[in-house]
Amino acid sequence: MKTKQMTNKSLLTKTLEKVWGYKRFKPNQLEVVNNILQRQNTVVILPTGGGKSLCYQLPAILSSGMAVVVSPLIALMKSQVDFLQAKGVKAAFFNSTLTRKQAAATKAAIHARELKILYIAPETLNGEEMIEWLTQIDISFIAVDEAHCISDWGHDFRPEYRNLKKTIQALGAPPVLALTATATPQVQQDMARNLGLQDYKLVIASFDRPNLQYAVTSKEDSYRKLVELATKGEAPTGIIYCHSRKKVEEIAVFLQHNKIKAAPYHAGLDTKTRAKNQEDFLYNRVNVITATIAFGMGIDKPDINFIIHYDVPRSLENYYQETGRAGRDGRKATCTLFYDESDITKFEKFYTQKTVAERRKLQALLDWVKYYLKTGICRRKQILYYFGEEYPGDCNNCDNCTNKRPQFEGKELAEHLLFTVKATGQKRGEEYIIAVLRGIKQAQIINNEHNLLPTFGQKKTHSISWGSVLYQLLICGYISKDVLDNAVIKLTAKGKAFLAKPHSVALYEELSYHEGESTDLPVLDRELLAKLHDLRASEAKKKGIRETLIFSDNMLERMATAYPTALAKLNA
Ligand code: ADP
Ligand code: MG
Ligand code: ZN
Repeated sequence: MKTKQMTNKSLLTKTLEKVWGYKRFKPNQLEVVNNILQRQNTVVILPTGGGKSLCYQLPAILSSGMAVVVSPLIALMKSQVDFLQAKGVKAAFFNSTLTRKQAAATKAAIHARELKILYIAPETLNGEEMIEWLTQIDISFIAVDEAHCISDWGHDFRPEYRNLKKTIQALGAPPVLALTATATPQVQQDMARNLGLQDYKLVIASFDRPNLQYAVTSKEDSYRKLVELATKGEAPTGIIYCHSRKKVEEIAVFLQHNKIKAAPYHAGLDTKTRAKNQEDFLYNRVNVITATIAFGMGIDKPDINFIIHYDVPRSLENYYQETGRAGRDGRKATCTLFYDESDITKFEKFYTQKTVAERRKLQALLDWVKYYLKTGICRRKQILYYFGEEYPGDCNNCDNCTNKRPQFEGKELAEHLLFTVKATGQKRGEEYIIAVLRGIKQAQIINNEHNLLPTFGQKKTHSISWGSVLYQLLICGYISKDVLDNAVIKLTAKGKAFLAKPHSVALYEELSYHEGESTDLPVLDRELLAKLHDLRASEAKKKGIRETLIFSDNMLERMATAYPTALAKLNA
């Protein structure tokens, strides 16, 4: 057994070197390849650039039969196939771009069992004729690339992906490899379910970015904080995200007033300006880009060392993706989120225009953000929990860790909540459980006789909300939330053990922030400016030189804004 594994391993490395010229596997690749070679269904979550293609290309080469790779990216198919063919691997693709002749040739190659790997668009694969054709040959496995497209929780839902389950069955249920860079548990579970994978191995890269420092702050004194954050450290370079174009412009101007090289970026600017501002940022001609979320996709600037969210993001996934643009060079970077209650209510108001189903989803995403903002647990732990990762201990590198928040004894509250989860059958969502604890006489609760539970209308010994208790018990692993099954809350082993023998649990008080935004834009003193103009004019006349040789207009404006008391300050 041992020798077999060793030969297997050396065969894999040999192939890796022969076909790709790489010496080593990237993290997680070997595990995935081995799973597939052992014919196990596998769900793979690796970040973009993590090397997912190799995870199916390599086992395809080494398996008997032909691997089928489903991909929505028709343009990428050809380049991958060209690459493989150049390396002597029998590969082909099948999609709507093929001419009739090319399609016939590919079909013939399939039929002759010549191919090791066939790339195919989902709609092509799902066609009856294609299925018929493929049932005749030996399929080693089916790889579904960009598999998040199957989930309407994801950002790129493609209905055609939903038919793959049937197709996979029709093809005799070969092993399935689903790959994506989207890491939320919703999408993850949705993928497995919609592909019909009951039994599968999950290979997931850690999404932790230890060099990013997370913090939340109120909008009080926000403009002063912006200047502080944008001038800290050696070569401050960053992005400030705002919701509105107006704010993007306003903050850019404000920073410029404060001698910070900043430029705006939003969809309302003409293409030329946008391209110029982006380039200026990339080449460090400006240090700060103020932007709507339109900015950043595909930006690969390694030295970004701060990201500020001036407005609350609509989901933690968005937030993590946007902050993920910082610190690519591995150096310390700060990610600061400005808290403002009215940002949240704006979203909620906007969501009332949506359909009920849509609203529920959007609200669920926003609720995570709300809890994130208000909970004293290590920010990193919270974020990673959201991505299905358990972070042991605390990071000591976020505002909640470096500035410990007040805690209290939460044993009783935890007991009540966990008891309620258990007594209502572990098949209820968060709202129901909280309604029972709060003693709300909903018809459903009364019908189920849950108003008779001892915890119905439980008096709280503390002012914290039940929602916050629930969230904290979730992050700390006492309960789990099945996002696909109506967000049903269940007890984990840790939660069951607690109920059997309750012990002390420290819960955090809800964090509070100062309300209100203060935007102390520097005000131009027009009276002073007029006086300075007059003075400059008379001085120029006396000396017989041009006015602007004394001071530029810009300089006069700065004097009238910042009231510098020394020449050095003016030029600083
Ligand atoms: P993903 O699909 O996960 O975004 P790709 O499969 O496109 O990533 O691979 C990203 C890059 O990493 C490609 O240029 C690929 O050739 C390279 N790569 C993949 N595996 C390795 C490896 N073991 N060593 C070095 N580079 C690799
Ligand atoms: Mg890819
Ligand atoms: Zn922390």
